Amino acid sequence: MEEKKNPILRTDQLQTFYVLDMQGTQKIIKAVNDVNLNIYENEIYGIAGESGCGKTTLLKALFADIVPPLRLIGGKVYYRVNGKDEIEATALSAEEKRKLRLEFISNVPQGCMSVLNPVLKVKETYKDFIASHVREQSRREEIFDRAHKQILEFGLPKNVLDVYPHQLSGGMRQRVTVALAALMKPRIMIGDEPTTALDVVVQRGVIQMLKEIQKKLKNTIVIVSHDMGVQANIADRIGIMYAGKIVEESTAERIFDRPLHPYTQFLIHSLPKLGDKTIRGSVPGSPPSLADLPDGCPFHPRCPKVMEICRRQMPDFSYPDENHKVACWLMEEGKHGQAA
Ligand code: SF4
Repeated sequence: MEEKKNPILRTDQLQTFYVLDMQGTQKIIKAVNDVNLNIYENEIYGIAGESGCGKTTLLKALFADIVPPLRLIGGKVYYRVNGKDEIEATALSAEEKRKLRLEFISNVPQGCMSVLNPVLKVKETYKDFIASHVREQSRREEIFDRAHKQILEFGLPKNVLDVYPHQLSGGMRQRVTVALAALMKPRIMIGDEPTTALDVVVQRGVIQMLKEIQKKLKNTIVIVSHDMGVQANIADRIGIMYAGKIVEESTAERIFDRPLHPYTQFLIHSLPKLGDKTIRGSVPGSPPSLADLPDGCPFHPRCPKVMEICRRQMPDFSYPDENHKVACWLMEEGKHGQAA
């Protein structure tokens, strides 16, 4: 992390909800609710939390991919392109987004088979991919040539472009997908659970590849993973998400060494430790429905440290230090009463 003043990717009071029409009745799912993020150049930012907390929807919004039934209810997403002025990503036209995708921001999707066409050789997928983003023929050829070099740089077999996806292992397919997302040297890469469904050894290879890409391009990677073990291995900073909100954010070191939000503490303490055979506890209860959130702190029905005020009012962020923010009334304990 070098530049801390000007985020390359920023959200301001972002609210993106799913608005569903259920036979004449509107159902609103508050997937991302008042999220303020500052993500910088040359860092890997992890977004962690249980399934259904809004992580994937937040990633869609960061990619400016807000299509019905998802709606931008409030707030904005900003990109700082070329290190200069910010542009409002949430106000870009489809054509403006097309131009920015790949070279400024690219997406590493959750499943590699959604990218690799099973009936085409990998190189055809590469060519289609390049053609959909680059208009000039000469430039397309130049980028395809670059793909060959990049495949070797990333340590992938040199014939990987000449085979069909089914001829590759699951881990190799995922690495090809990551390589494709990095092809145009994007300033931001975002990945939604890019290691899900891979065994730990393969997972490690994909994580290592993402880290190498980030180091080489000195770009920004935003990675969603519910797996705190993955976050520990890859992230420089982590935002913990619960019920559509970021409830704690700090450096990965600080989050693992000194988690302050009770929810983060459960996530960390549920991780296995080498040599420790005691049964690890999980977070009690279930996450709330994003269509029917409790009043106050959304974690209060599950929180063993709940106080009276927690049931009524959502806490603002407290800043135990400049790199750490926590939304929990415990940070102000003593002012509002005792734990119940
Ligand atoms: Fe628990 Fe209250 Fe903190 Fe929420 S605000 S995490 S309910 S102590």
